[in-house]
Amino acid sequence: MLTDYHLHLRPDDENTTAERFFTAENVDRYLAAAEAAGVEELGVSEHVYRFQQALDLWRHPLWESNGQDDLDAYCDFVRGTPLKLGIECDFIPGAEDRTATLLEARDFDYVVGSVHFIGDEAVDHPGWDVWEGSGDPDEVWRRYFESLAECARSGLFDILAHPDLVKVWGGTRPLPERDLRFFYEPAVAAIAESGIAVEVSTAGLRKPVGELYPSRGFAEMCIEASAPFALSSDAHLPEQVGFAYDRAVEFLDSLGVEEICVFEQRQRHLAPLGSRVG
Ligand SMILES: [Zn+2]
Ligand SMILES: [Zn+2]
Repeated sequence: MLTDYHLHLRPDDENTTAERFFTAENVDRYLAAAEAAGVEELGVSEHVYRFQQALDLWRHPLWESNGQDDLDAYCDFVRGTPLKLGIECDFIPGAEDRTATLLEARDFDYVVGSVHFIGDEAVDHPGWDVWEGSGDPDEVWRRYFESLAECARSGLFDILAHPDLVKVWGGTRPLPERDLRFFYEPAVAAIAESGIAVEVSTAGLRKPVGELYPSRGFAEMCIEASAPFALSSDAHLPEQVGFAYDRAVEFLDSLGVEEICVFEQRQRHLAPLGSRVG
């Protein structure tokens, strides 16, 4: 079994419209790409901040300028396709109850929980760059993984997205000097307690860092904590479906991981990890 659950039907460009990308033709392009890559389980997880309803959770200016679509229209559209229905939802500290209300009102197959922001600043968005100004690496990494821990522990999500996203810029941003496992520790403890699935994402290979999320060190700690893994590309284009899955499968194989998570109606089971076709 190969899955690709964390994917987006449209690019992260504010000028794209739902009408252009939420179409049967576009879904067919993703399905054809999945078949070519040997991906059997395909689901879409659009960013929550694309939807008007997300403004109940947070009023960050980036969300205010993006929150235009109707979440229920999205759910209805996806339910009319062969795709599993997911959503990528940011963990917003203090908005746990409102997040639960938003998620529980819809019949998602799975919810991907993300941390993109530390306070009002983003770890992966140039317009709100956490590294502008002081950007002390110890502080940024510590706060990022503490938020990730809260995200896991919230119990709101099924899959923990791109778990070490803070490294996205690679060598263009400073790295902490101490052993990175020191920063992973609180997040791995929360993963162990919560039982959340940890995403292995090939998206990092397309970013300046040029690595899978998570790092080998983080993944080894997750294995010690008996965490299950979910596999995704975080595709924003059809040609990115199953992107570099040979690398991800090799990574999981080398760690001795033999099963990955499959979701339906927010129920999880484990299936044998497949091998990439072609
Ligand atoms: Zn994300
Ligand atoms: Zn994503």
